[in-house]
Amino acid sequence: GSKVTNKFEGTWRLFKLLVPLDQDPGKDFLDISDALLQQIAKVLKFPVASLLPREAFSVVRKSFDARKRVKEPKFVHTVDVDVERLISLQPRTRDFISRLEPKVGLVEHMQDRKDCGDLISIVRDYKETAVKGENGHSILSGELHQIKVSRKPKIAVVGGGPSGLFATLVLAELGADVTLIERGQPVEKRGRDIGALVVRRILELESNFCFGEGGAGTWSDGKLVTRIGRNTGSVLAIMRTLVHFGAPEQILIDGKPHLGTDRLVPLLRNFRRHLQDLGVTIKFGTRVDDIVIKDGHAQGVTVSESADKLRLRSQKMEYDAVVLAVGHSARDIYQMLLSHNVELIPKDFAVGLRIEHPQELINSIQYSELASEVARGRGKVPVADYKVANYIEKEDLRESYDPMVANRSCYSFCMCPGGQVVLTSTDPSEMCINGMSFSRRASRWANAALVVTVTMKDFEALNYYGPLAGVEFQREFERKAAMMGGGNFIVPVQTATDFLNKLSGSSLPPSSYRLGVKAANLHQLFPDHITEALQNSLAKFDNELPGFICKEALLHGVETRTSSPIQIPRDILSYESTSVKGLYPVGEGAGYAGGIVSAAVDGMHAGFAVAKQLSLFHGDL
Ligand code: FAD
Repeated sequence: GSKVTNKFEGTWRLFKLLVPLDQDPGKDFLDISDALLQQIAKVLKFPVASLLPREAFSVVRKSFDARKRVKEPKFVHTVDVDVERLISLQPRTRDFISRLEPKVGLVEHMQDRKDCGDLISIVRDYKETAVKGENGHSILSGELHQIKVSRKPKIAVVGGGPSGLFATLVLAELGADVTLIERGQPVEKRGRDIGALVVRRILELESNFCFGEGGAGTWSDGKLVTRIGRNTGSVLAIMRTLVHFGAPEQILIDGKPHLGTDRLVPLLRNFRRHLQDLGVTIKFGTRVDDIVIKDGHAQGVTVSESADKLRLRSQKMEYDAVVLAVGHSARDIYQMLLSHNVELIPKDFAVGLRIEHPQELINSIQYSELASEVARGRGKVPVADYKVANYIEKEDLRESYDPMVANRSCYSFCMCPGGQVVLTSTDPSEMCINGMSFSRRASRWANAALVVTVTMKDFEALNYYGPLAGVEFQREFERKAAMMGGGNFIVPVQTATDFLNKLSGSSLPPSSYRLGVKAANLHQLFPDHITEALQNSLAKFDNELPGFICKEALLHGVETRTSSPIQIPRDILSYESTSVKGLYPVGEGAGYAGGIVSAAVDGMHAGFAVAKQLSLFHGDL
């Protein structure tokens, strides 16, 4: 039978509370404005909004809706009602609560609202109860849970991106002796290296847009959206931890939260200090070249350090477990794993081009007359973004039906409003790009990847077979793009209209890319079926976003590293590699995440899983 719930306990969650743009105070995301209080009163059917105590309500989500189909632009809120508090502060609401009924998508009753603190407090609470439960001591007495093992387990976490950082945090909080090994540099030095790349064309092979503290997403737009569910406990714990390290609380509520590089850098510095205070050894400029494997067990790593561009002697270091959180640009690591017969499975991903428009154009496509209110990120109306997707059906192709083109998805990816196109190559002979932005998203440009899914069929069509087929496939187009650009990190570009008409020669609109662009026949970069899929979809996107194809729309090549081309199989519960004991492949590079938040969640889960194996953690994941 259905669970009997007490309406006067827990939380009622109210969805889709609409406040018109002109009635939004626009100051604080956490505010219960007068207009919002009116909406709450309406749902509760409470006659006098002003008699409702604001303290009983909290905004859990706020997003802006200015779609063409809606008549009036507005903010859409989700609000939680603390029922006991509400009734104690305003007893007259009791009758109204008693009449409140759950309605799908509008009102929900949560007897035990899933709420959690940041990861640090979660782990500390766990330790406190675990210690208390076992021997009656508080954690403050200094007797930690780990007293059970004869010595602290020694763990190497390889890679300081979101997955590696969160795995390190969990393990260190649970009392392990963790060494975080990162081939790149700390954010301060990495910032200078990226500056040298953008200004003087010097690509540091180990410290760039992909490698270094914070991982690939540090010089990025810092979008914190994820497909794994905003309200899950895991995502909330990650978001709260980011707030703990300095992210604005707004990210907990904003429907499309993002940080921007300027906020990520100080956040990562705070993260680092916290880990160091916990006793974590952090080795920057240290690359893992090999894993020491004996009798099927990972027993340590071989590293080489870099100093002043020199690679110093390699050194062997012993560990009880190795967490591999290297991201998907560490191609040398895939090769190394293969040499140890670690199973690697090629996986589908997507490739394509990055399109850039003037941000004002995207604002006007999305907002019409409201566009003038955007005021480059300073007003209430957020800088416009977009998300488009197209599934190519057989019928779409009409006269030119090609089975290689049909049944593919093409979609926009990693859209950066008010951002810039950046170079994410890790090797000068290869060219690949991505997008980044600062927190205010105030640049004149809007860019997004337009990518098409590719599978083993595509790799084999170019004679790439085996576990690294996808990597070879990526590399082929990165090299081709580098050649089309003519070297020196110059990006090959083509106007969207020329790309559609397979033409060249139109005059180029400006680009945000700092190292220069060169006109090229991007329609000849990919195999025909990929180009056709992009062309077919571009035309559809223009129907959805009229004006998307225009003379200012500039395609940049090439976008290849959308997600990992490989998965490293691991046990579903222990996260241990199915090929090597004591090795834990995590994050995007291992094929278990795509994006900052999902990588962080995977790292966090892996941290608990490893701790469980090493008897540092006895709870449920
Ligand atoms: P990574 O972040 O790639 O971290 C891996 C780390 O391992 C790196 O720091 C690397 O230096 C280190 N490493 C690799 N090999 C070795 C080795 N042999 N020894 C030691 N260390 C090693 N995602 C979003 O969700 N939102 C965004 O807005 C967004 N924008 C992006 C913009 C750019 C420019 C880029 C490049 C990516 C962006 N992404 C974004 C994707 C996001 O950055 C990744 O999904 C995420 O960082 C993956 O996390 P990870 O920890 O699995 O791997």
